[in-house]
Amino acid sequence: MACSKRQKVDLIITNATIYSVDSTFSKYSSMAISDGKIVALGQIREIETKYNSEKTIDANGKFIYPGFIDPHCHFLNYGITLSNASLSGAKSWEEVIERLVKHQKEFPSDWVQGRGWNQNEWEVKEFPTNDLLDKAFPDKPVYIVRVDGHAAIANSVALKMAGVNENTTTEGGELIKKKGKLTGVLVDNAIELVRSKIPEIQKTIKEKALMKAQENCFAVGLTSVSDAGLDLQDVLLIDSLQKTGQMKMRLYAMLNPTQENFDFFLAKGIYTTDELTVRSIKLFVDGALGSRGALLLKPYSDAPETIGLQVETTEKLKNYCKIAFEAGYQVNTHCIGDAGVRLIIDIYSNYLKFHNDLRWRIEHSQVVDPQDLPRYGQYSIIPSVQTTHATSDMTWADERLGNRIKYAYAYQDLLRQNGWLANGSDFPIENINPIYGFYAAAARKDLNGQPVNGFQVENALTREQALKGMTIWAAKANFEDDFKGSLEPGKWADFVILDRDLLTAEESDLPNSKVISTFVGGELVYQVK
Ligand SMILES: [Zn+2]
Repeated sequence: MACSKRQKVDLIITNATIYSVDSTFSKYSSMAISDGKIVALGQIREIETKYNSEKTIDANGKFIYPGFIDPHCHFLNYGITLSNASLSGAKSWEEVIERLVKHQKEFPSDWVQGRGWNQNEWEVKEFPTNDLLDKAFPDKPVYIVRVDGHAAIANSVALKMAGVNENTTTEGGELIKKKGKLTGVLVDNAIELVRSKIPEIQKTIKEKALMKAQENCFAVGLTSVSDAGLDLQDVLLIDSLQKTGQMKMRLYAMLNPTQENFDFFLAKGIYTTDELTVRSIKLFVDGALGSRGALLLKPYSDAPETIGLQVETTEKLKNYCKIAFEAGYQVNTHCIGDAGVRLIIDIYSNYLKFHNDLRWRIEHSQVVDPQDLPRYGQYSIIPSVQTTHATSDMTWADERLGNRIKYAYAYQDLLRQNGWLANGSDFPIENINPIYGFYAAAARKDLNGQPVNGFQVENALTREQALKGMTIWAAKANFEDDFKGSLEPGKWADFVILDRDLLTAEESDLPNSKVISTFVGGELVYQVK
């Protein structure tokens, strides 16, 4: 029999447009898969003459891409916040409180928690005070986080429980006062004063959070996520859920710089399984632009008394980089302001001697002084950006930055330095859908198609670059490009079937792209209903 000469495989995909995102950006129409990995790609006839399978999927002419990778997000935290009140998109402080009250009626809890408020979206674009919060919740502690995670507001009960009063001070943080009275607004390190008083989340709740996060992420085509800042117990929980097969999402863990993490992981070297990589630490230099915590070289244009906040001492940052370097770990540092970026490059340059393959990253790289731009190339520092931040911030960022807006969100300029960059979302700060990042990168417009000519379009990415930023380059930023990020023989069969051609679809239509199905290791993990 002729077919006996054909190699038996687990699955054959036919009748597709497959963007392999390999080094020559080749396209195929068919793919053979076995043992969770890609065996071959080719035209339908080629694959059919060489392979046979009991299972074939006809893609009906749809489009296949490598499974999307979010190289900077907060996967566990996103899952946890799904049970908290969502405050994003609220048009006023009053609406924030209404939403909290409503959510508490449906889901009563000891602590009232929520996330996503943003005073820049209100008519009065100022930090709120907690008076209305006290009125709505006179007996229960309330703690709600700003959209960027770098500011929060607590009610008086919560402040009292935390032992915070007018005389409290913190390093690298601020307690905002109005006429000498606490407003409840906590910026950067001051957040910890209250957050640390919230009872520890139980393991069973975290398990549920991870499973729910996984379900939602598969539905938007994500097959790998990099969680930017995890504690030891969280990484161990993820590892155990992956080992029992409950969690199929692959995860790249960035460790918080705790002694526990150093002792357990860094002291023993790199830890990898098929689903998990642990080889990096996550540091913070500064806060965020919206809450004026980003560290700037010159004062804020709309607040000349401040240059922002350095949230970790230079001494500690140097020490953490030394520990990571000696352990062969990657360093990924949050830097939003131009002074933050300059400071971390100065520190990195002690270890990154000229061209290297250590792939130390600067997360966000939001405002980069033109003088520092070439230093990314000089020391092979990888920009890890979130293109949706540009289109989320563009309506107010110039108030903070003035003329400096010209070199903010400069993704094409950053890409040019090493020829690649990683593009993530930072969810839950932004939506989990990577297509929104793709669209923001290419169009530089928000979901309403604004501004019509795009925001600082000279820094748009091409569609090919935008696709690479969430596949092969994202994998590279995680040292995982040898086994994922593109569809090539020997790599994991992680892929997504989409209803749109991302390379040719009408620009305004891109955000409507729908995932038809998602596969991890050749296994179907999501199917549209
Ligand atoms: Zn983040």
